[in-house]
Amino acid sequence: MLADILHEVFGYSAFRGQQADIVAHVASGHDALVLMPTGGGKSLCYQVPAIARHREGKGVAIVVSPLIALMHDQVGALEEVGVHAAFLNSTLSSEDAQRIEREMMAGRLVMLYVAPERVTHPRFQAQLASLHERGLLSLFAIDEAHCVSQWGHDFREDYLQLSMLHERYPDVPRVALTATADDQTRADMIERLQLQDARVFISSFDRPNIRYTLVEKDNPRQQLLRFIRREHEGDAGIVYCQSRKKVEDTAEWLSEQGIPALPYHAGLDAGVRQRHQDRFLREDGLVMVATVAFGMGIDKPDVRFVAHLDLPKNIEAYYQETGRAGRDGADAEAWLAYGLADVVNQRRMIDESPAHDDFKRVQRGKLDALLALAEAHDCRRVRLLAYFGEDSTPCGNCDNCLNPPQTWDGTEAARKLLSGIYRFWQHGQQRFGAGHLIDVLRGRLTDKVTQYGHQSLSTFGIGADLSEHQWRAVLRQLVALGHVVAEGEFNTLGLSPSARAVLKGEQAIVLKVAAEAMPRTKLARPK
Ligand code: ADP
Ligand code: ZN
Repeated sequence: MLADILHEVFGYSAFRGQQADIVAHVASGHDALVLMPTGGGKSLCYQVPAIARHREGKGVAIVVSPLIALMHDQVGALEEVGVHAAFLNSTLSSEDAQRIEREMMAGRLVMLYVAPERVTHPRFQAQLASLHERGLLSLFAIDEAHCVSQWGHDFREDYLQLSMLHERYPDVPRVALTATADDQTRADMIERLQLQDARVFISSFDRPNIRYTLVEKDNPRQQLLRFIRREHEGDAGIVYCQSRKKVEDTAEWLSEQGIPALPYHAGLDAGVRQRHQDRFLREDGLVMVATVAFGMGIDKPDVRFVAHLDLPKNIEAYYQETGRAGRDGADAEAWLAYGLADVVNQRRMIDESPAHDDFKRVQRGKLDALLALAEAHDCRRVRLLAYFGEDSTPCGNCDNCLNPPQTWDGTEAARKLLSGIYRFWQHGQQRFGAGHLIDVLRGRLTDKVTQYGHQSLSTFGIGADLSEHQWRAVLRQLVALGHVVAEGEFNTLGLSPSARAVLKGEQAIVLKVAAEAMPRTKLARPK
């Protein structure tokens, strides 16, 4: 009985959420695609069926995982509760590898963890074929299955080969698992892993203990420091930055401010990375400043905040990264600061990448969805869950729910700004950046204005009623809404086709009043 395995082996009293259904489905020999948030309990979904099928004499379960560190932990934990498990990867000595292969070939192993590149290896394939002939291949588990999709954020070439498992061993059940997948990634996983006949299990992606806050950048370092000091003094947290240099600078700066922080990125020596990771896991109250190289497979339950100083690539990446906060179920925070430059940078990275146009189009769409989340006036959680196909009602625990942002009718301001860009083009077939545009709108006679004769434009001075800061906010939102594009080395501004309706007054624009200065309520702290 599956529940008996749960009690006897793992010492848990009951399955959680959909685990019972998934485990029964897989143990009885069917394929499954499991979408469950981080911390939801995906491992048991293949471990319990593997144990059950092994007890029925069906042999070894093969678990494909891209994370060597995680394999190590999982195997250790399984052996500790008396389940015979092992991993094969490049870190083993040849004697150890041979010993494990013998255990596998004899069908004694319950679970074997392998990296995806090993699966396609001819020697390993021969071993699988031999096991299969003798009826000793009990199931395949494919962890982090979103890695097969190039729309996702962790695409791995090796995952593409995993479809061969189904082609060669169609009667062996497969369970693919992931913590993150929007519609496109989901469709991709099903197609590429040939899971058309698999039952799809989707758990709620809500992480109710995480409070989401997205603020406009305005001296982001100071904002971060204030955020940590106000809410998270002495807490463990992760701060994500895009570049290695920024990781190092930010870690150093936080330390100088008395917040213990360590850097982590792929450019650091492997020994240093390991040391920093170990300290983060072991010590209390350390802040890890990292690129996205840090985090997959890190299981630290009491991370109290995840902060982003740069915009992630898309909502899936944002969800995955913020999901590392609050795995213990106690209150945690996801905080992100973003600005116009982030939007422009991300767009440029997509535009300049060597990928196909189709691919770029999808990436742009995903970035736009993230920007819409960032610019949203309503509940962040509702938007986030909607992105993963889930309906919900306002959460009462995100920045917008707690402090509903004031909005204003920005239609006129938007029209002024758009015509400012349009007049530059009409005047001299030229494009300019944000600073100059705002000078012209506000009627400032700078050298550049006189140099180009822009004081004679009909748009000169039409925006004197707004401050420079306010104009920047208008511009950022218009870029996020896709009406303005900022391109080229100097981020010069142009109009996109959708700007037309706004210019003609056919489309109203609702803008958000800068929210950073508003009071915040304190988080209830776990005792
Ligand atoms: P995921 O891989 O989805 O991030 P894990 O499989 O690592 O999640 O599980 C997260 C935590 O929840 C682990 O500590 C695990 O032991 C625990 N857990 C999972 N299922 C149950 C259950 N049915 N009862 C109690 N604890 C569970
Ligand atoms: Zn909310």
